Amino acid sequence: MKEKPGPGRCASSRGGSTPTELRSEMQGAMPERFDIVVAGAGHNSLIAAAYLAKAGYRCLMLEGRPTVGGGVKSAHLTLRGFTHDVCSSAHNGIHGNPILRDNELKLGDYGLEYIYPDPVFHMPFSDGSYLTQWRDLERTCEEFAKFSKKDGFAYRRMIAEYETVKPLLNAVTFTPIGLGKSINDRLAEHPRGKLWQRRLAMSAWEILRDTFEDDHCRAFMMGCPYSLQPVQDPMTGRAAYIPLHQQRESRPLPKGGSGALTEALSRFIEAHGGVILANKWIKR
Ligand SMILES: Cc1cc2nc3c(=O)[nH]c(=O)nc-3n(C[C@H](O)[C@H](O)[C@H](O)COP(=O)(O)OP(=O)(O)OC[C@H]3O[C@@H](n4cnc5c(N)ncnc54)[C@H](O)[C@@H]3O)c2cc1C
Repeated sequence: MKEKPGPGRCASSRGGSTPTELRSEMQGAMPERFDIVVAGAGHNSLIAAAYLAKAGYRCLMLEGRPTVGGGVKSAHLTLRGFTHDVCSSAHNGIHGNPILRDNELKLGDYGLEYIYPDPVFHMPFSDGSYLTQWRDLERTCEEFAKFSKKDGFAYRRMIAEYETVKPLLNAVTFTPIGLGKSINDRLAEHPRGKLWQRRLAMSAWEILRDTFEDDHCRAFMMGCPYSLQPVQDPMTGRAAYIPLHQQRESRPLPKGGSGALTEALSRFIEAHGGVILANKWIKR
């Protein structure tokens, strides 16, 4: 941290482009001037502040807790020397975001480094059998084929079909509502758009039940990773395809734990003139 204003209080924002002042309680100290004050330093506000800082705005971040990161933090929670992720652990979703996908903030320069494990996911079953997803597609298809030859082919077909719509679905995920085409408009331009509209309207369970014949294969697809909604609910069809995302991209893990992401963002903000203060609860 470059400049620490010390124990300060936020003067009320005067609106417009007038910078907010943070007056030091130390007598005679010059007031620090900021363009933007951000409440809380979880990963979402850190990302917003990082883009603002990149655009030239000077940001002050006030975090109530002793450390930044919110739910995206790592700590020694059990034995000394063992680092645990406090809440968030999976970084698959955020890998599709332009911040990492297009390396917009070059967070590698601020200490962020990812590991891409292979095997990707391993699921043991109570009957002693198991199914392992490898980054190699052939090898993964063989794992499905252990249970059913037909399911080995089904997995291969599913991934080939999905990859034709994946860029389109990903684009929708990272386009704020109102700032780009809707999912239906995009699918209308796809040669099999109607089929995909139907699939997305189905439940994930219906898709997996119809695609695979063996229950091990179905269980793997439903639990790898867990679905965010009950798989039998209508409109959860997209969740049936979640395991295919990690087939090629693995399950990226930040070196040093999930918190390495928020630590890199903090360094980025500070390197761009921002100030981050911990133990500062915003009351009003
Ligand atoms: C058990 C668990 C597991 C999860 N696993 C995953 C996962 O594997 N992958 C994944 O992508 N997501 C996961 N999540 C979700 C992820 O952790 C959250 O979506 C993410 O942390 C939300 O980020 P945020 O920045 O919006 O809010 P938060 O992380 O909640 O950050 C908000 C910050 O603001 C601070 N704050 C709040 N009020 C004030 C105030 N008045 N003054 C000052 N500071 C304030 C808080 O102290 C906190 O640091 C998990 C969540 C939980 C609970």
